[in-house]
Amino acid sequence: MKCPYCNEAMEKGLIESSEPINFMREVRFVNRANEKKGEFNLAKPPFGGRASVEVWLCRSCRKIVIDL
Ligand SMILES: [Zn+2]
Repeated sequence: MKCPYCNEAMEKGLIESSEPINFMREVRFVNRANEKKGEFNLAKPPFGGRASVEVWLCRSCRKIVIDL
């Protein structure tokens, strides 16, 4: 995949976490009252495993493309 910003070749890889990987509009701290506001789940960890999403990285301009 070519980077849509600088046209350099991108590397395929993944982002992983022991917690769910979510898009959120703002940082969520201990208070989870606004948990669902604007949240979009990208991946949930399986029992005993880690959540992961495939991504394309451009090291040149430090952009990541996530294609779900
Ligand atoms: Zn780039």
